[in-house]
Amino acid sequence: MMELLGNSRSRPLLLIADDDKGTRLILQHVFTKDGFDVCLAENGAEAIDKYAERRPDAVLLDVQMPYMDGYQVCELIRDREREVKTPIVMITGQNDIESISRAYDLGATDFISKPFDKNTLPFRMRHVLRAHSEHNSLHGLMHGIPDAIAVLDDTGDAIDFMNANRLFRDVENADMLELFKRGHRLPRGFMDKVRECVRRTLQTDEVQELEFQIANSQRHFEARIIRRDAYSALAIIRDVTERQRSEQKIQELAYSDTLTGLPNREQFKKILATAIRRADATGTSAALLYLDLDRFKRINDTFGHSVGDALLCAVAERLRTSIRKSTRGESSIPGGTEISRLGGDEFTIVVPELSDKSHIESLCSRIQRTLTTPFVCEGHQIVVSPSIGVAIYPEHGDDEQELLMRADTAMYEAKGEGANNARVYHESMNARSLELLALESEMNRAIERNELELHYQPKIDIREWRLVGLEALIRWKHHERGWISPVDFIPIAEDTGQIIDIGRWVLQEACRQLGEWREGPAAGLQIAVNISSQQFTHDDLQRSVMEAVWENRVGPRMLELEITESVLVGNVDETIDLLTALKTSGVSVAIDDFGTGYSSLSYLKRFPVDKLKIDRTFIRDLHRNPDDAAICSAILAMGRQLGLAVVAEGVENEEQLQFLDERECDQVQGYYFGKPMPAHALPDFLHDVLNPHLAELKRNSRAAP
Ligand code: C2E
Ligand code: MG
Ligand code: MG
Repeated sequence: MMELLGNSRSRPLLLIADDDKGTRLILQHVFTKDGFDVCLAENGAEAIDKYAERRPDAVLLDVQMPYMDGYQVCELIRDREREVKTPIVMITGQNDIESISRAYDLGATDFISKPFDKNTLPFRMRHVLRAHSEHNSLHGLMHGIPDAIAVLDDTGDAIDFMNANRLFRDVENADMLELFKRGHRLPRGFMDKVRECVRRTLQTDEVQELEFQIANSQRHFEARIIRRDAYSALAIIRDVTERQRSEQKIQELAYSDTLTGLPNREQFKKILATAIRRADATGTSAALLYLDLDRFKRINDTFGHSVGDALLCAVAERLRTSIRKSTRGESSIPGGTEISRLGGDEFTIVVPELSDKSHIESLCSRIQRTLTTPFVCEGHQIVVSPSIGVAIYPEHGDDEQELLMRADTAMYEAKGEGANNARVYHESMNARSLELLALESEMNRAIERNELELHYQPKIDIREWRLVGLEALIRWKHHERGWISPVDFIPIAEDTGQIIDIGRWVLQEACRQLGEWREGPAAGLQIAVNISSQQFTHDDLQRSVMEAVWENRVGPRMLELEITESVLVGNVDETIDLLTALKTSGVSVAIDDFGTGYSSLSYLKRFPVDKLKIDRTFIRDLHRNPDDAAICSAILAMGRQLGLAVVAEGVENEEQLQFLDERECDQVQGYYFGKPMPAHALPDFLHDVLNPHLAELKRNSRAAP
């Protein structure tokens, strides 16, 4: 009996109301014997009182009673009840259809007709109690769960809806029953799917699941359709909006970069794998562009991470725009091209189904162009430039990993050649990159082992045909490999930070040499030292310079610093301050490799520098390439306007010299006058070769009209 009762009673309490004393006693006897507790009422009014007082588990009511009949009692009880209902069994006359139906209308649970069978009566009562208890649990359950339940007939039409109001409370003006009957505001074809699910669940008894949305509502729903009986099914409908949102969020977190919203490394791998598959399927190629911002670390260090972050977002945005423009047909980049951020300042671009590789070149230059326009982040004007490495499937690698490695190698190669470069992978790069890796570990001991050396190359003033200075160029005489070019080890030293120690050594050594040359043919020559942008950020450059100058007792005016345009990147104000301080102390400053970066005239004007050095690549093809000639002329004209001296480097022949002379270039440097050479070889070279050469040129120019 226990399990039938929702309360703590061990025996169910039955209220029996009948005006006939005999009947009352019989019923009392029968039920008490069967394990019920019984309380009695002689009439309707008493029944109500007893009901209120004792809260019985079930009520047995005679229809005909004085004062208040059974119907009224039933009605009153039902009125007082809320969620949980007490089973009420009416005692009616035999086959009194009218009374029976009236009793049901008023909320009676069941009826028994007189004369009743004493033996089966308790069974009947227990059944009523059990059914009622189950009903109540279900009712409570329905009330407690947030799901709505629709009853569907065997064709899938909704015939009843429970709990709908609660579930669809945010879906305005929706009569759910109507909505499901007609499929209004439901996705196209949804009702067909429901029918199919009902058919299947009726056949197989398996739970079917469906997801859907209601038009004009932001919410997502899930319907689980289960078999109810042979002819109907239940659709349990649940609001899964929150769940979907969190799933989406998890997806986003797992596969996208939270800073820029671009796909992250995980997602990138998938994108690349898909591109490879597409290339295989269509017999095309796929390109992977690996992009790294030059000197990003410096920007981060100078301005702080929030500016760094803002810059990365802005870069991501510009990349998006430039890809969008490219895929709109402006340069026939295939659709489906995707940008990802691998972390830090590293971005990738995957171009699928590539049929014409020349498009990659134009994409690279487009990216370089868009990114070199100055950014403004949190009020700071910042210039960045990308180095881009390209690897192409299937030529450069069979799988994602190999392609990524190759693109990375190509990117490093591009970086090694100066800022704002792009390179496509080539086999020779791989061998080189392995070799360079070995160099990295040996560089630490290069200074201790005395393997570094400065070579000097003359700088000639061509207005007066006079030797005016020397550029100090570092060489590494490796104990096993022999001479190693700075082009190979300086970029590594910059990456690893070893450049700081090397840079200090160069300053010291150049000043020591200046001291040694106080007399002789090299006396009074200014020495130019190359300064890496890292020395600007990570070293107290002003102090390193002054220490070198003082310790070797040379005048600061004897020293010139060559910086590249990339140094001007980053905190403009701070750079200006540092340059001004250096200049004030007497050191002069030249911009090296000018023309390869992004310096615009207006940008350059703000920096206190003395000299521009035209990059040797423009000088090299001066006579073959009219563009180079135009650039040289422009730089010379611009230098004059800004009051800066212009030096041309890499001058190898008379034609180049003549071109520069005609355009009033101030100084030149190059193999034509002398290659870089060790300090010990210089005095003899000047005395025996260069000075006589210059004297001759001077005579010739005087002789000329
Ligand atoms: P840079 O400062 O632009 O140096 C000029 C480079 O051009 C030198 O190469 C020089 O040997 C070469 N060169 C000079 N005249 C000619 C010519 O007529 N024709 C050709 N084809 N080349 C010529 P090098 O010595 O290999 O140095 C390469 C780069 O390494 C330098 O470019 C500079 O950026 C860097 N570097 C060299 N020494 C140092 C250093 O002490 N510190 C730092 N941070 N970088 C250095
Ligand atoms: Mg230089
Ligand atoms: Mg240079």
